[in-house]
Amino acid sequence: MNDQHLSLFSSTVVIKYNNLSAAEPCGICDNVADQDVGPALFLSDSFHQVCQICGDTYAPELVDVINTWHAAQGHK
Ligand SMILES: [Zn+2]
Repeated sequence: MNDQHLSLFSSTVVIKYNNLSAAEPCGICDNVADQDVGPALFLSDSFHQVCQICGDTYAPELVDVINTWHAAQGHK
């Protein structure tokens, strides 16, 4: 199950601008992806958010980019 998810989603997690801080189900695992406004992880072919756990699993480099961005903002 997890291997199948990995091959299905590994190339489709992207950063998009999240202009609405809403708790939505993660597009991969259905856990709540409660992301802040600003750059956030989404599936490339939709506006389904990707939660922190799936981001760490499938796109750790992008998580690093987002965390760096938030740090640079002096995250409130
Ligand atoms: Zn998830």
